[in-house]
Amino acid sequence: MRVVIKIGTSTLAHSTGHLNIRRVEEICKVVSDIKNAGNEVIMVSSGAIGMGVGKLGLAKRPDDIPTKQAAAAVGQCELMYTYDKLFSEYNHTVAQLLITGADVEAADRYENFSNTLNRLLELDAIPVINENDTVATEEIVIGDNDTLAAIVAKSTNADLLILLSDIDGLYTADPHKCPDAKIIEKVTKIDEKITALAGGKGTSLGTGGMVTKLNAAKICLNSGCDMVIANGNNPLNIYDILEGKPVGTRFTEKN
Ligand code: GLU
Repeated sequence: MRVVIKIGTSTLAHSTGHLNIRRVEEICKVVSDIKNAGNEVIMVSSGAIGMGVGKLGLAKRPDDIPTKQAAAAVGQCELMYTYDKLFSEYNHTVAQLLITGADVEAADRYENFSNTLNRLLELDAIPVINENDTVATEEIVIGDNDTLAAIVAKSTNADLLILLSDIDGLYTADPHKCPDAKIIEKVTKIDEKITALAGGKGTSLGTGGMVTKLNAAKICLNSGCDMVIANGNNPLNIYDILEGKPVGTRFTEKN
């Protein structure tokens, strides 16, 4: 299987912005193992800004663009250092790809990007993709990594996109407000009823939320790729998701 795994800031970092070491170690171990089993894996990793906030000792996620971009420049180094170190322990090679909206909108740049990505897979590397936050301004920004991950899944004809987040999946109502809200195990179509279930933004350090996840699901369903939203707090879930077991919410047109 060709799998894209997107990891949200809330999964990678504590609320302080510092690395969640145990979590990231577990993720790298599971990803290495599923790759050893013959799957192709592409990672889309958030966390650059969040970890930059931690490393620079800022009190909160900055609101102004230069500080956000500076934080991303610092945090992206720590992210890749961490992935390189952990995946090397299992003899896997990581490759960093930083892109902006302009790279996926202009046909020639998009082709370059997908050629490089596909070549990296042939070379058996693990591409780790993030938005190029240090240069992405309003006009060219994709804006969130859920959408970016779906674009990546589409351009590589992936079989599955897994979004690891701090929420268990899509609920029948906002679980923070309605204690009897239930997880929806399977969604086959993003209609108005489903769209109405998306609340606002997720955490204070990250960017996404259910709206961006449903947007990603639309892109995936339109290109025949399954998508699963699952909680990143138990990386072992990735094994079950690959086996098609019910974890989180699966968006699929298959029976
Ligand atoms: N690219 C952002 C970062 O690395 C995250 C975007 C997102 O959370 O969706 O901090």
